Amino acid sequence: MHEFGVTENIVNIVLAKAGEAQASKVIQINIVVGEMTGFVPDCIQFYFDSLSKDTIAQGAVLHFEVVPTHLRCRDCSTIFHPQDTLWSCPKCQGQSAEVSKGRELYIESMEVE
Ligand SMILES: [Zn+2]
Repeated sequence: MHEFGVTENIVNIVLAKAGEAQASKVIQINIVVGEMTGFVPDCIQFYFDSLSKDTIAQGAVLHFEVVPTHLRCRDCSTIFHPQDTLWSCPKCQGQSAEVSKGRELYIESMEVE
């Protein structure tokens, strides 16, 4: 369950930011998560609920925006979405691609009061 570590980071960042903003309660946190990370939003919410207990972030709702995986062909620079585990370029059939999107995980914004 690698979600635990990232959720700890999220809670730390949220509490630091909320402290800076002198907030009394965190309402919602908007998180961008890449499809390739394999993170399960429900799992992050579950850990968040236990890690944020007795803090001002307790009860906050996590809103996830999932970014689909995008690959860029190293031969012709075409951006494409991989079909399952097949990473060949739909344009030139090249087998060499790099990930251009889908590995990100960050807090985009949050609502506090
Ligand atoms: Zn290509």
